[in-house]
Amino acid sequence: MTYMHPGQDEWGRVKLRLKAELGEDVFTSWFNRVDLERYTNGTVHLSVPTRFLKNWLQGRYRDRLMLLCRDEFESEAVSNIEFSVRGAAIRPLAPVQTVPEQTQADIRPITTGAKPFVRPFEAQHNPDVRQSDDSLTGSPLDQRYSFETFVEGRSNSFALAAARKAADQRPGEPVGFNPLYVHAAVGLGKTHLLQAIAQSARANGRRVVYLTAEHFMYRFVAALKNQSAMSFKENLRAIDLLLIDDLQFLQGKQIQQEFCHTLNSLIDNARQVVIAADRLPVELESLDERVKSRLAGGLLVDIGEPDYDMRRKILSGRVAAALKNYPTLSLSESVLDYVAQNVTCSGRDLDGAVNRLVQQNQLTGESISVEMAEVALRDLLRGKEPKRVRIEDIQRVVSKHYNVSKADLLSARRTRTVVRPRQIAMYLSKQMTPRSLPEIGRRFGNRDHTTVLHAVRKIEEMVNADRVLLEELEGLKRQIDM
Ligand code: ADP
Ligand code: MG
Repeated sequence: MTYMHPGQDEWGRVKLRLKAELGEDVFTSWFNRVDLERYTNGTVHLSVPTRFLKNWLQGRYRDRLMLLCRDEFESEAVSNIEFSVRGAAIRPLAPVQTVPEQTQADIRPITTGAKPFVRPFEAQHNPDVRQSDDSLTGSPLDQRYSFETFVEGRSNSFALAAARKAADQRPGEPVGFNPLYVHAAVGLGKTHLLQAIAQSARANGRRVVYLTAEHFMYRFVAALKNQSAMSFKENLRAIDLLLIDDLQFLQGKQIQQEFCHTLNSLIDNARQVVIAADRLPVELESLDERVKSRLAGGLLVDIGEPDYDMRRKILSGRVAAALKNYPTLSLSESVLDYVAQNVTCSGRDLDGAVNRLVQQNQLTGESISVEMAEVALRDLLRGKEPKRVRIEDIQRVVSKHYNVSKADLLSARRTRTVVRPRQIAMYLSKQMTPRSLPEIGRRFGNRDHTTVLHAVRKIEEMVNADRVLLEELEGLKRQIDM
């Protein structure tokens, strides 16, 4: 039995009441992913996965939540409700707010609310366009996210080629692949790529709607309330290109059904659909089977981590953009080399690093040396280190533990003594690294992603039934983490 933190019971009751009031679908869309972090001194601390959700709940449901919490939490009077974005604390760079918080009356959409924003690059884009509930303008696009600014490299060339093709698709012509489904871990350029497609297609005169999954849900719920759901659907079906970002956030039965209908009708009418998510369709646990298979029937492309050259190019682009706002900016080539060598995960971290160096340079007026960069980025680099587990480390520890060679682990051999450790290593790779299934497959002797998925499910099943194995895996994880 898991230990219940103070307030969890009460919070559970608040959720039940919300569900009864709002109905299953609305509840699932907005409250399923809200967690109680703690309850202290009269403040209920809630956490959510994205900024969008935070703004949304703050604007729309705060008062209602307050009343329900006051009713259910007994020990002290509830005086405040605080929302935080989960995972936001991992990023050492304080997110700078560029888009004003939404208020009750202001339901203007905000793109990719979770994005930690970057001061030097703001200003060029002003998403301040008011939209009525039933207009179908989509989430605002960030002009900087274009094909021109997208750096190509080995890890994304296939995705980029497919994206260009989708953007060039002409209405009425047969669609080559549909939907195009882009999957990658956070910060690897999904949103950038989708928005590049949207802007390029729009420039070619096509009717384009770009929506985050949350935004799609919001639209739909709003349309249901206004009894304009029909026109919402019809509007959606009258477009040439639909792009849905962060599909992993799509929740709610009715909304999924609606999404499924929209998807089917667009695809059947040869309209291009492009989807981005942080995982494969089969891994979207909450998604309807029919949606999954429809998605899996399109073209699946993944984006891997950028290599050194790409990182270096992305950085140069960032600095060039920052120079427009900060003409006195001075960051030497060797500093950029240093950053490209040491900030290795995602475009988002590169943005964060540049942002910080620009700030430091502007505040001190000093040109930044490599030593200064090292100090300025130290916590950013160190904060990351413990989390970066490499697949090689997993393979090394697992092969040593089970006494099989690494060559065997990667080989096609199917004997039991090799198969089980191999599955365990794949399972741990999925658990401990942000790598996608196809990428893990490639690193295990070029196996298919379905093999990896099978391994992951198999070991999950076994772990659930077998405490000894569970402890064994915990032991392995500790060794890998060292
Ligand atoms: P995701 O949506 O996959 O989480 P984003 O598209 O938001 O990632 O990318 C994070 C940041 O990194 C953005 O500022 C983006 O412009 C930048 N970025 C990622 N990949 C590239 C690339 N190949 N070229 C240029 N910028 C990139
Ligand atoms: Mg994104």
